[in-house]
Amino acid sequence: MSAESIKKPINMLTFLVSYKCTNECKHCALQASPNQEEITVEPEDVRKYLEDVTKNYLVREVNFFGGEPLLNLDLLICLIEETKKFDIPKIGLPTNGYWGKHDTIAKKYANKLKEAGVNLVGFSVDAFHQEFIPLDFVKRAINAVHETGIETILIIAQTIGSQNDKNPFNDKTNEITNIISKEFPFCQVIKSGVQVKGRAIKNLVEYFPILTIPKDKCLIFKAPMFMIDPNGWVFHQGCQGICIGNAKKTSLSKIISKFEPRKHPIIGKVVAKGGVSNLLELAIEKGYKSQNGYADKCHLCFSARNFLRPFYPNILEPSNVYFYEK
Ligand code: SF4
Repeated sequence: MSAESIKKPINMLTFLVSYKCTNECKHCALQASPNQEEITVEPEDVRKYLEDVTKNYLVREVNFFGGEPLLNLDLLICLIEETKKFDIPKIGLPTNGYWGKHDTIAKKYANKLKEAGVNLVGFSVDAFHQEFIPLDFVKRAINAVHETGIETILIIAQTIGSQNDKNPFNDKTNEITNIISKEFPFCQVIKSGVQVKGRAIKNLVEYFPILTIPKDKCLIFKAPMFMIDPNGWVFHQGCQGICIGNAKKTSLSKIISKFEPRKHPIIGKVVAKGGVSNLLELAIEKGYKSQNGYADKCHLCFSARNFLRPFYPNILEPSNVYFYEK
């Protein structure tokens, strides 16, 4: 048996390139914005993390996330080139397509992505993103990526509840995705429901039926998928703001190998019987005043964590994704 085949798999390792974005979308869990601070993942960090982690794990896919990962094209290309050196089979990124304003720029960006080794591009296209980015920009960017021969192009859209639920956002999103599907039949459309955390709490709660106190367990932590932000904070891929370590201080593979969801002081609560309501109890013990109801389990979880931040330094990080500085 080869050394590679006995390594444990990591389905996806994501580098959160920057919290900055061209947009300030109403639903953004990360609260990305043009006003976020100027910090970015450095190529040297990506090299160091991958050198360490690929010695011990089989990394199936690397993703570059934001904010908008293409805000600094030269940096992104350096990061992809570093990644390519480690023979990762899939390299991808989501983008809002803002760079499709002009044909020549769209072609330049798409060609650079292809040359650097990207084989998957996801376009975020829905009512939230199209408040900021004209659909024509995205169409130009999709065309340019398709022309390079990049294998997989995804259309990623978010809805409120299921896509059939009636509200002005879903009507708009369905209209947009229908247009894109017709014009670009080679794209795969993926729709998922917004989770009420981050900026969605400020903007979208009124569009959800309010539940009393959700008691669901959070099931996202089972899949081996991790994300690292510019300051080295490591999260499970599915939820940012609950740290399992800092890769600038401890080796990333050590952080991943030691991660046991049930033993984590915050994650342990949300995966146990009683689910997110355990986190509510913890927050109430420390002085949090419960609301009468929440839009979903993430709404409760995020609200409790936002309150608990001062009690959990180095775990409920970074401030970029929460409402209040400590
Ligand atoms: S329940 Fe909590 S931990 Fe799970 S995805 Fe929602 S906000 Fe994240």
